[in-house]
Amino acid sequence: MTATEPADAAERRSAEPVVCYDVENLPPVELDRYERARQSLAKVDEVLVPPRQARTFHVAAGQFFRINSVEGSQVGDLNLFNEHDLNERFFSGKTRQLHASHLTRGDRMWSNLPHLRPMATITHDTLEWYGWDDDGGGVHDVIGTRCDPYTQQTLNGADYHHCCHSNLTRALADETGQEMADIEHHVHDVLNVFMCTGFTRDTQQYFMKASPVRPGDYIEFVAEIDLLGALSACPGGDCSASHSDDEAACYPLLVEVFDCTDDSMSGWTPSAANEYDRSHGR
Ligand SMILES: [Zn+2]
Repeated sequence: MTATEPADAAERRSAEPVVCYDVENLPPVELDRYERARQSLAKVDEVLVPPRQARTFHVAAGQFFRINSVEGSQVGDLNLFNEHDLNERFFSGKTRQLHASHLTRGDRMWSNLPHLRPMATITHDTLEWYGWDDDGGGVHDVIGTRCDPYTQQTLNGADYHHCCHSNLTRALADETGQEMADIEHHVHDVLNVFMCTGFTRDTQQYFMKASPVRPGDYIEFVAEIDLLGALSACPGGDCSASHSDDEAACYPLLVEVFDCTDDSMSGWTPSAANEYDRSHGR
């Protein structure tokens, strides 16, 4: 039965929203330095991620990497790990709380507890112009998780093996030489690269709509620590209609890794370990 609205409901609803975190206290992002550095980038590696597959890549602290749209409009699901410790990985939820539901230039990808430090900073985003559309949608969300075969089985009673979760699991098993059953739990909630999403105005349900990304678009990061990345080219393609099936037109994504070749990064240091003493009050 629906609960009865109290007499002071309007007054309760009119409480002022307060931004949860003092985000002005975050360590400053050196965007001026990165803007200078990115003028002298030289490519040192590239990895082509085939459609409905995932691939891993390595980026040393201080190197830059780009995820490029090639051939057609395509969404990517990105996982990041500390290259030396898979237990330190991207923390979608805290990143959302510290920045916003969707990320762009100047925002950082933070790692999980007990690490909580910047793993990567977005230094350029050719879709920065998109902002928020009339549906409340934006690009590069950290609200969705990743398409996965368990949800697909629950909703549709069918096994599908090329969801981003499975693609990332296979790629991580290949990278580490471990069995999929032993490595699957390291796959985590993603940055939904190029994906256009939001919450419906009336029911606050997670929606997707055709990605505005086109070949030539890219999102670029500087690695704040040594990174192992894993990127899946989502079976949803541009995520305009469906996912978790073989219906959508899908395209590859190109990952490129760059060195800065001038002195713009001299004196720059990787992000330090979190300083909390971990005593938890004991
Ligand atoms: Zn996906």
